[in-house]
Amino acid sequence: MPGRSIDDRIQLRERPLIVSDVDEVVLEFINPFKAFLDSCGHVLLPRSFRLTGNIIDRANEQPLAEAEVKALLDSFYGTQDRWQTPAAQVVETLAALSKEADIVFLTAMPPHHAAVRRALLDRLGLPYPLLASEEPKGPIVQNLHGGRPVPLVFVDDILRNLQSVQHHTPSCLLINLMVNAEFRALAPKPDAGIRAVADWPEAAATIRAHFEGQFSAGSHQFKSNRISGLPSLRRATMSNPAASKTVVAPTQRATDLDCLARSIGQASR
Ligand SMILES: [Mg+2]
Repeated sequence: MPGRSIDDRIQLRERPLIVSDVDEVVLEFINPFKAFLDSCGHVLLPRSFRLTGNIIDRANEQPLAEAEVKALLDSFYGTQDRWQTPAAQVVETLAALSKEADIVFLTAMPPHHAAVRRALLDRLGLPYPLLASEEPKGPIVQNLHGGRPVPLVFVDDILRNLQSVQHHTPSCLLINLMVNAEFRALAPKPDAGIRAVADWPEAAATIRAHFEGQFSAGSHQFKSNRISGLPSLRRATMSNPAASKTVVAPTQRATDLDCLARSIGQASR
């Protein structure tokens, strides 16, 4: 199963699982990337829900070619710890949710930048396990959850990723969250079954209502685990933080563009 070797390195308790994207969900991406582009003499125009074609070279007022966009993204991700900031209220919201659910970050960023991202997330108070993979997210989330009788939540800004998870785990609560309001207005509208929220407090309220609904629905297994937890697994996770925090996908497919840019480009087509 795809990602099995990756997922084995994350230890989950028998309690709800929240899988969250990072860029434009947990960390701001658009505004920091705009600032980075400005330092390079470029500007990102909010003309459509994609990067390629909308990044303009101030010197000649022409859009950058796809290869140039890819190089800029790689440079940005390599120095992301100087630019990216947490989304509003994400740190305290996830800290509260982590008392009743496991949280895993699943980022489509090229895996070779995962160490920089790990250090940034830790510094910001977001110490949850990180998966970096450019593979489709649906099979990875399915593999992580493993069909256990506990609630599953997936949060992402890109519709294509939400659809992938919806296809592979139909019972998952799907939340569409994009921090940047300007580009959110340009994004495709979510399908039925995908809940759009404006910020993390609204996401948390939606997640807790989902947990309560699942609890009330009478999953005996979930009820039992919710009360007792599995302290032995928690100890295992806490005793080996290096194994539980940073996980980098071992394979990196050749791509024509960074996955986020590719996602935005595809989403607009
Ligand atoms: Mg994203």
